Amino acid sequence: MIEGLVVKSYGKLCNVKVNNFIYKCEVRGKYKLSNKFSNPVVSGDKVEISITDKNNGVVENILERKNYFAKESIRDKKGHLIGSNIDQTLIIFSIKNPYTKLIFLDKCLLSSIFFDIKPIIVFNKVDLLNDDEIIKLDKISFEYKKAGFDVISISAKYQIRLDDIKSKLIDKRTLILGNSGVGKSTLINQLSPYSQQRISDISQKTGKGKQTTTFSEIIKINKNSLIIDTPGFKDFNLYLIDKSDVKYQYPEFNKFFDRCKFSNCSHINEPGCAVKKQIGNNIWEKRYNNYLGIIEGYS
Ligand code: GDP
Ligand code: ZN
Repeated sequence: MIEGLVVKSYGKLCNVKVNNFIYKCEVRGKYKLSNKFSNPVVSGDKVEISITDKNNGVVENILERKNYFAKESIRDKKGHLIGSNIDQTLIIFSIKNPYTKLIFLDKCLLSSIFFDIKPIIVFNKVDLLNDDEIIKLDKISFEYKKAGFDVISISAKYQIRLDDIKSKLIDKRTLILGNSGVGKSTLINQLSPYSQQRISDISQKTGKGKQTTTFSEIIKINKNSLIIDTPGFKDFNLYLIDKSDVKYQYPEFNKFFDRCKFSNCSHINEPGCAVKKQIGNNIWEKRYNNYLGIIEGYS
């Protein structure tokens, strides 16, 4: 058996890179019926494969993941893996064309924190904004920075502030999140000299026909920086995060938590809640209201 890196995953199939060669692999039976995840293997996984012929192999073992990002699968209540062994998420967002609700950003942020991954917020398409919209975005950025997040505003298309992003990617494996149309492909093409020949495209040499759904794919930025590109999703259900865990995934709540009267305070309608007292001060009302929306989504 040899060790490799999953660079593209699509259901029970994946492309595994070993040195500079890509093997198209199927997953060994024991992994097919995972009751945790709907997709057994994902880009970023370290795996051991046995080679069956020149271009093909079988994934025999999936090595332990440092971490992963997952959402709830639509088909069943299992997890749907998006990427694994990740240092940070880059959450691409736009407030115009398309407009996306901030609650989606909040879900990406709290999931990242829950899965032990540092999130970075990227507002794309700043070139499209008029004066009023710039003021609106400045306010949003200000509030998220105050909450403790890294925020970068860019234009992928017109290459505004892309150096700020490049410097964040050095020596990191970065998972790209964001709904479709926000500019993920445009950004990746700007960042990667390799983007036109994505790592896994080499596999097309194997001529095994086209895959229909690609779940995620690794793209090389340079020697030590890899991006995991994911298909966009508009909304998602949180995976593995209990209703009572949500409150812990807000850095700005955590600062005041220990001053709440009740140690299990959910900051909703308990008396003596120190978090609620901070609304409009250290806690942004919109974030708090979206927190309530996320909690309501459980029942
Ligand atoms: P993806 O679905 O997230 O991969 O989005 P794409 O990269 O395909 O971009 C969707 C559309 O938005 C395309 O028409 C892009 O040209 C456009 N776009 C991407 N980035 C920008 C940007 O910074 N400014 C403007 N004005 N358009 C952009
Ligand atoms: Zn409280």
